[in-house]
Amino acid sequence: MLFLNHCNDAIPFRLLLLAILGCACSHAYIELTEEYLNDIKADEKAEVKAGEYNYDHQGDDWQGTCKDGNRQSPIDLIYDDAVVSSIPRIRFKNYDRSLQTPLVLVNNGHTANLVLPATIGGQRASISGGLLPGMFEAQSVHLHWGSALSKGSEHAINFERYDIEMHIVHKNRKYGSISEASENWDGLAVLGVMFRSTRRPLSTQYGLNKIFNQLPRITQYQSNATIQGVLTVGQLLGNIVTGEFYSYNGSLTTPDCAESVTWTVFKDTINYSDRQIQKLWSLKDSRQQPLINNYRSLQDVYNRTVYYRSVN
Ligand SMILES: [Zn+2]
Repeated sequence: MLFLNHCNDAIPFRLLLLAILGCACSHAYIELTEEYLNDIKADEKAEVKAGEYNYDHQGDDWQGTCKDGNRQSPIDLIYDDAVVSSIPRIRFKNYDRSLQTPLVLVNNGHTANLVLPATIGGQRASISGGLLPGMFEAQSVHLHWGSALSKGSEHAINFERYDIEMHIVHKNRKYGSISEASENWDGLAVLGVMFRSTRRPLSTQYGLNKIFNQLPRITQYQSNATIQGVLTVGQLLGNIVTGEFYSYNGSLTTPDCAESVTWTVFKDTINYSDRQIQKLWSLKDSRQQPLINNYRSLQDVYNRTVYYRSVN
């Protein structure tokens, strides 16, 4: 469960008090709102429900909808095959507002996951526009990565894969929970952002640095670390151009691969320090093996339409 540190040193569970502190087996009690704690618990429950799975075969051995579905993700996003259309831009609401802190970053055995709380004012960072069937509230952010030998993005763009793909997961406001949303075709919206590794240490990625700086604290399965201070969801996007993107109907890229996701994958990429990216390769999965190459293989598009929004 989540509320243990890697020393298997049980921490008394209290509703508003969550014990967190790296890997030194020392504890600090940090106050989280009930809402945020419930969101973290719901996220953990969904992870447990997904059952045991790993990336040994890049998901090709996953069962159920993962195997039988016909609207699966990720896919290769190919400009020449896309319908270029004047769909609306993505509208970001409260993406510039500070989130309540502390935030809790967790190694859940499959990724580094950050459940997103409401902003300090109590609003949710949300998106609408694009091909989104409604208003979607930001729930969590996580990453997919490769290794020293391979790139780790899930989607490809014009046959090219990238070093990292970040997913900001949103839930349609009309559904009560992520699990309810995932049972409906219009339940979820994920923003995909590609990272390109760069030798140049860029210090400008303030939001991402806040997450990546905590990675050494969550190398062990089920360990967690807190992020303090000011962070907005918008900061995670750096300063990418959000006006150009691919969009299509697909699925979660992890079991149960529910076909409930409207995907928006930005064309623009974030250049990010290779030193920061390499920190991901030190994470361990539930088997104590390196958590690397946690991306699913490309899926068939079948008869789906992929849209491309151009600024021109
Ligand atoms: Zn993902």
